[in-house]
Amino acid sequence: MSRFFSKELENLSPYTPGEQPLETRLIKLNTNENPYEPGPAVEQVISELSSEPLRLYPDPQCKELVLAIEEYYGLASGQVMVGNGSDELLGFAFMAYSDEGRKIVFPEISYGFYPVFGRVFKTEFEMIPLKEDLTVDPSDYYNAQGTVMLANPNAPTGIGLSRKQIEGILQNNPNNLVIIDEAYVDFGGESCIPLIDTYDNLLVVQTFSKSRSLAGCRVGYAVANKDIINDMNRIKYSFNPYNLDRLVIRIATAAMKDRETFETNRHTVINNREWFATEMTKRGFSVLPSSANFVFVKFAQTGSQYGRQGVRLGGEAYFKALREKNILVRYFDKDNIRDYVRITIGKKSDMEELLVATDTILIEALNN
Ligand code: PMP
Repeated sequence: MSRFFSKELENLSPYTPGEQPLETRLIKLNTNENPYEPGPAVEQVISELSSEPLRLYPDPQCKELVLAIEEYYGLASGQVMVGNGSDELLGFAFMAYSDEGRKIVFPEISYGFYPVFGRVFKTEFEMIPLKEDLTVDPSDYYNAQGTVMLANPNAPTGIGLSRKQIEGILQNNPNNLVIIDEAYVDFGGESCIPLIDTYDNLLVVQTFSKSRSLAGCRVGYAVANKDIINDMNRIKYSFNPYNLDRLVIRIATAAMKDRETFETNRHTVINNREWFATEMTKRGFSVLPSSANFVFVKFAQTGSQYGRQGVRLGGEAYFKALREKNILVRYFDKDNIRDYVRITIGKKSDMEELLVATDTILIEALNN
């Protein structure tokens, strides 16, 4: 740190992104990317791109893309805005919806960026513990001390709340904004986008990074009533008006219109997940019920032949053993979840390799 760095931010610990290795022989199941390509419509647009328009700034309103999103969900004009990844929109929301004495409230175990935003934007925040089974208790968020921020499905557990449960939270916070981060909702969750005309205190954020296979482009979107979208745009135009580049606007528009690729890819991921969860259960792992494109698993010491024979396999040991076999997953060194690893659902062949590696790791653990 230089001597010029803000004293107030001295203790800031930045978000740690999952490793993005240059080595291609690794099986990468650590950052919840989609293993399938974005599809022919995106290929086509990329092949048509030319450098000439890059002289000019992009459309700050990203109209073409916003319109495609409005059409997809059947929304009125003014109910959507786009961001440089949903991270940017979540950051805008932290800036827009907190004051002194009005906190941002979220679960203690959730997306690791929330507390980082809280610190960098000097926003007061409150973290509420999950229940012992690692689920969110909706009633913990009734009459909150400020803005509610929930990832649904939650990360890294993958467990979702139903739309009814979220409605309970909305109804019990008439004077608080409720932000639902639906990064993973297309893999089996219930989206709250259909509720935006009913609840004026709801803001939904989604991303192209997971179900639309465009993590490399950095595109997210926010959906809410017009007043909320206007607030969010006030922040955007005070920070980064041209937040999406020309190429990405066109690519993301094509992806949004290609419903077939989207449906095929997300269903394939869901099928892979269900099959993989069963296979892991057979091997003595407990797998939290996931509505996302990842599973949160721990080796159940008592529930398997290896466990009964005395094998212990904590989250970190399993993570490291897989890394040695060139498979990347994610481990969080955090209270209550140290026994777990988070495994992104990849292609079936990736998951098969992970299962083979896991069998070897368990046998090695037994012989040690
Ligand atoms: N929300 C959650 C819960 C996430 O896990 C992620 C991805 N790490 C994001 C938001 C951000 O996604 P992106 O910025 O790629 O849209």
